[in-house]
Amino acid sequence: MPIEVAEKGKTLQNFIGGRWVASASGRTKPNVNPANTSEILGYYQESTREDAKKAIEAAKAAFPGWKKTPAPKRARVLYKMVELLTKRKEELARALTAEEGKCLNEALGEVQRAINVAEFTAAEGTRMHGQTIPSELPNNLVYTVREPIGVVGLITPWNFPVAIPVWKACAALITGNTIVFKPSSLTPWTAAMVVEMCREAGLPPGVLNLVTGPGGEVGDELATNTDVAGISFTGSNEIGHHLAKLAGSRRAKIQLEMGGKNAIIVLDDAELGLAVNAAILGAFGSTGQRCTATSRAIVQRGILPKFLEEVSKKTAQMQVGPGKDSGNYIGPIVDENQLKKVMGYIEKGKQEGAYLALGGNRLASGDQGKGLFVEPTIFTQVKPTMTIAKEEIFGPVLSVFEVSNFEEALRIANDSPYGLSSSIFTRDVNHVFRYIDDIEVGIVHINSATIGGEAQVPFGGMKATGSGGREMGTTAIEFFTEWKSVYVDYTGESRKSNVY
Ligand code: NAP
Repeated sequence: MPIEVAEKGKTLQNFIGGRWVASASGRTKPNVNPANTSEILGYYQESTREDAKKAIEAAKAAFPGWKKTPAPKRARVLYKMVELLTKRKEELARALTAEEGKCLNEALGEVQRAINVAEFTAAEGTRMHGQTIPSELPNNLVYTVREPIGVVGLITPWNFPVAIPVWKACAALITGNTIVFKPSSLTPWTAAMVVEMCREAGLPPGVLNLVTGPGGEVGDELATNTDVAGISFTGSNEIGHHLAKLAGSRRAKIQLEMGGKNAIIVLDDAELGLAVNAAILGAFGSTGQRCTATSRAIVQRGILPKFLEEVSKKTAQMQVGPGKDSGNYIGPIVDENQLKKVMGYIEKGKQEGAYLALGGNRLASGDQGKGLFVEPTIFTQVKPTMTIAKEEIFGPVLSVFEVSNFEEALRIANDSPYGLSSSIFTRDVNHVFRYIDDIEVGIVHINSATIGGEAQVPFGGMKATGSGGREMGTTAIEFFTEWKSVYVDYTGESRKSNVY
């Protein structure tokens, strides 16, 4: 399908074997604008396991050719991707804002992240080093090379519908794997745009295939089909564990990046302005719908009153509304299910005795009433045993804890099954380094917000957040490659033993 995949209102198709095709099911589903739920942005294919099987067959057929393509040549396709993403940055960001809801400046930032990652990963094509290793034997060359693992399934969430697919796909492609990509059903439009750009960049047919539709059908086929060598998944713990069971039972590789319950620690000696701005950015940016969102603020007693006053004052001034309109800081919740979940957590927080210091309501009148908007919400007097202290909310809700010292703050921050991101605000270098040593997360920030990350730096979490290797940075290629160890004996003789 040509460029009209990028046009609003169109029926998107699957991309299989280099062609845009309809699902065998004959069914489509609407893609709804969360900022105005009466607006249908287009339709996407409600695919079945049969469609997924066809895509897997296409990826399998394309694998030998792509594997044999020299990595520097594969890199040229990725560099072309960088060019196309840059050229169509604004268009892609606008589609992202329309279907996912985040504010346009954040959508532009997300596309830029995708560009940075594509550029960094493309260079792996000339850097994908193996090792030469000293042998115990004379006249024996020992070295290692990386090989692609085969057909991989990429299953992605809605909250970073451009950056996450791009960072997974680039790592898979540069290392010579072929792909079946199953995006979130809430963000098929941006998925199709990214795939169309890959096609335009010169990817051979079958190397990247797109199948939209329900996770239970398409995703499960990817996890169970023996022609799929690995699954790279980002999403909820519930689905991640389900996929791990399916893929694990047939010993396929699986990479999981899942939930977070990220904390910011603010000690009495913190620079107040920095801590306040970081808490707000982390908690309410992207409507709190980031895996790295600040969900908990753990604040020392002395600074707490001023911190709360400033955070509440600034948060109350934030404009909530459609992400496409400049001036708005908080966009909509992505869909009705997520809205229900967020409102459920707010109710639970009240019932369990947290103090609702700000917000807590759905915005149901005027323009805001057309979409799925919630006031930025702050709970104080939160105790570690409360549900809002423990579970990932994934909405604009900040829970504030009062603590008496660094040790208590660290204990509460680590009192979570998750381990994605965390930050501390203090001027005390001893606390900074003890925190870096003892905080149980994959991403540590000092005097900056819990969100963000750079293309050339590994990204991912510890504990229940992640397993199977870090994404981005040079570590990204680990999951998508196998090591092969090579022994070249150039004695021309039979050895009696392989040791001295
Ligand atoms: P989700 O509900 O788990 O969905 C993620 C993907 O899995 C979607 O493509 C979904 O498809 C698919 N899926 C659903 N059911 C499936 C099944 N039975 N079998 C196979 N696939 C299935 O997560 P989400 O709501 O999209 O994303 C939010 C979550 O992602 C949060 O927990 C967030 O923390 C996490 N996240 C983590 C990171 C990280 O790097 N750690 C980054 C971003 C987001 P459908 O859309 O068709 O259901």
